[in-house]
Amino acid sequence: MAAELETLRALIDAFRPPSCPVSVDAAARRAHEFLAAFRASGSPRAGILDTSLSLLGLLALAGTDGGRESVRRRLTVMDSSLPPLRDLARLAQRLATVVLYATLDQTGRPAAAQAIGYDVFADRPRGAAPVVPAEPRLPADVVVGPAEPVPGDVYDVVVVGSGAAGSVLAARLAGQGRTVALVESGDYVPERYDAGAPERPRPHDELDNLLRYYKDAGLQITDGDCRMSVLQGQCVGGGSVVNNAVCFRMPEQVRSIWAREFGAAWAVDGRLDAAYDRIARDLRIAPVTTAVPDGWINPSARHLASGARALGRADALRPCEVNIEACLGCGYCNLACAYLRKRTVLQTLLPAAASTGRLRIFAGRRAREIVIRSTAYRAEGVIAEPTRGGGERRVIRGRRVAVAAGAVGSSALLGRTTALNPLALPIGERFSFNFVSPVHAEYETPVRAFDGLQMGHYYLEDLPRDGFVIETWCSPPATQSLSLPGWMDELHENMQRYAYYASASPLVGSTSGSKVDTRHTPERIWIRLDGRDLDRLKHGLERTCELFFASSPPPRRVLIGARKGWSLAPATYRRAIDAIASFDDVQISTAHPQGGNALDPAERGVVRPDFRVRDTRDLYVVDASVFPTSLGVNPQWTIMAVADLAAAHVGGD
Ligand SMILES: Cc1cc2nc3c(=O)[nH]c(=O)nc-3n(C[C@H](O)[C@H](O)[C@H](O)COP(=O)(O)OP(=O)(O)OC[C@H]3O[C@@H](n4cnc5c(N)ncnc54)[C@H](O)[C@@H]3O)c2cc1C
Repeated sequence: MAAELETLRALIDAFRPPSCPVSVDAAARRAHEFLAAFRASGSPRAGILDTSLSLLGLLALAGTDGGRESVRRRLTVMDSSLPPLRDLARLAQRLATVVLYATLDQTGRPAAAQAIGYDVFADRPRGAAPVVPAEPRLPADVVVGPAEPVPGDVYDVVVVGSGAAGSVLAARLAGQGRTVALVESGDYVPERYDAGAPERPRPHDELDNLLRYYKDAGLQITDGDCRMSVLQGQCVGGGSVVNNAVCFRMPEQVRSIWAREFGAAWAVDGRLDAAYDRIARDLRIAPVTTAVPDGWINPSARHLASGARALGRADALRPCEVNIEACLGCGYCNLACAYLRKRTVLQTLLPAAASTGRLRIFAGRRAREIVIRSTAYRAEGVIAEPTRGGGERRVIRGRRVAVAAGAVGSSALLGRTTALNPLALPIGERFSFNFVSPVHAEYETPVRAFDGLQMGHYYLEDLPRDGFVIETWCSPPATQSLSLPGWMDELHENMQRYAYYASASPLVGSTSGSKVDTRHTPERIWIRLDGRDLDRLKHGLERTCELFFASSPPPRRVLIGARKGWSLAPATYRRAIDAIASFDDVQISTAHPQGGNALDPAERGVVRPDFRVRDTRDLYVVDASVFPTSLGVNPQWTIMAVADLAAAHVGGD
């Protein structure tokens, strides 16, 4: 452990600008604590991170004099090499930079972030004494913690995963009179901040909240065509708790493809729209302009709107619909809504389901595999174990099992269930995702894009032709540092202008050639993208730049890129974007994985149109993993509506 601390110290020293108010020692200690908590979380990726850090110790430090300059030189050589050396160098930069901007001082504030113009919400006038509504807590007897005994009950349905889909399904089943066991690998972490309760995370503590609410503390990375971060929630409520709450219906052209090619008649015959309406009532989905008092919607939108007006396309920039009420505009949506303005499933569907007396939530327990009776492939429950390790495996029995562990997690669970092997199902195939690539427009005067709802507007001209939507956003500084281009000093210089950026991203629905490879532990997400994906992204980047450059007053420059940043001007951006040759040149990430267990009436699908796993009995999949193609828009509303429709099949006689 002493060696790890030394490695962290040297790496942080290499990336830390001398003017940074956070000391190397303080940041290294914070990184060390973060890593210890990450290991204790039971993430199967902890071992990979440990190996990477040991390699960094050997490759970046050994043979140097350990001084700042020699470590910087060594890391820069590694960064100019091929993977895996380059990947290690970038990991070092990400870790060091995030920790520097996220380390809190004795007053509980991120000093490095404040030095670049950020203020935490509690220090803004409307954050000083916010009124926080009462929290609809889940009764203690509904949530069974990982250390508590598992009762021997047989439930009507065991639902694996309590995210957007699993919570809707559990609520609908409980409403139908079914008993439900909801098994969730994450903990039950009530969202409301309570200064008197030290176990509650501080709303602005980026590292702590990553650990509490995210799968692999946000460190899930892909292999294959690009190294991309895949963000997913891991807590009771799943992605619903940490998402931006923007809601889209399925685009028309996606509906017709699903109906025509994948047997999803419900996408076009009115059933899906009826389900959207039911979810909208549960979550009180409304236009952001009514959900958020004026002025607290992400300030980036003002600049994009100005550009859209100048180009005569004002109608194409629209307010999103959101499941938020009376938003305070703290900008912490992705860290869970400590002020309870986001109407997550934890605030709405789960308490309602709990009040029926028919719901039990087994939190902090990972479903290892599904219990399948060998004759007729009938599902009879799941084998679950404490996610953090240390406890016994227990069978949670059910007459039916519905898998809603999210794209990635559901494929992993089905893949681990060796009893299904003889069926040769294409588990993990046809994986797709919506990906984003950040564009930052730097203005002369501060934009303070962090001071408002994280995401509020979208720009959409012609989805069938363009294949992207553009969304405005901003993140708190540590997370935002991951989206800015540059290596070492260049990145920190770019971060100095944090408060001056308006940010937006084209969001592109990928093709479906990727795969979750379930033969490994942890499962590997293998990305395959093609020319269409790159073309759509380039088109989206170009349009985003065009909008920003048309805004009045115009930005000083627009930044895109990855390690190498492009500082773009009106005369250069088209040529620069045209020269993007591969996904290595830009930074992409996803928080919208889809597919892996595609719905399909034909042999090539895992799940039939009634959501039952092909050739099995009493085994269903109901989450984003059943999507046969990506949506190309934010998916939570569709995921919930599809789970609502699936409830009739899962709960049917
Ligand atoms: C940062 C972020 C921002 C986003 N913003 C938006 C947005 O604004 N609008 C939008 O539409 N979408 C958004 N999304 C995406 C949206 O939240 C997800 O698409 C949605 O939550 C997926 O629903 P799901 O039920 O398929 O999976 P999830 O919500 O991911 O739920 C799956 C659950 O299963 C659990 N699990 C996994 N494996 C196991 C196992 N073996 N045993 C037990 N439990 C298991 C996980 O811990 C998780 O809680 C965002 C996502 C993120 C991460």
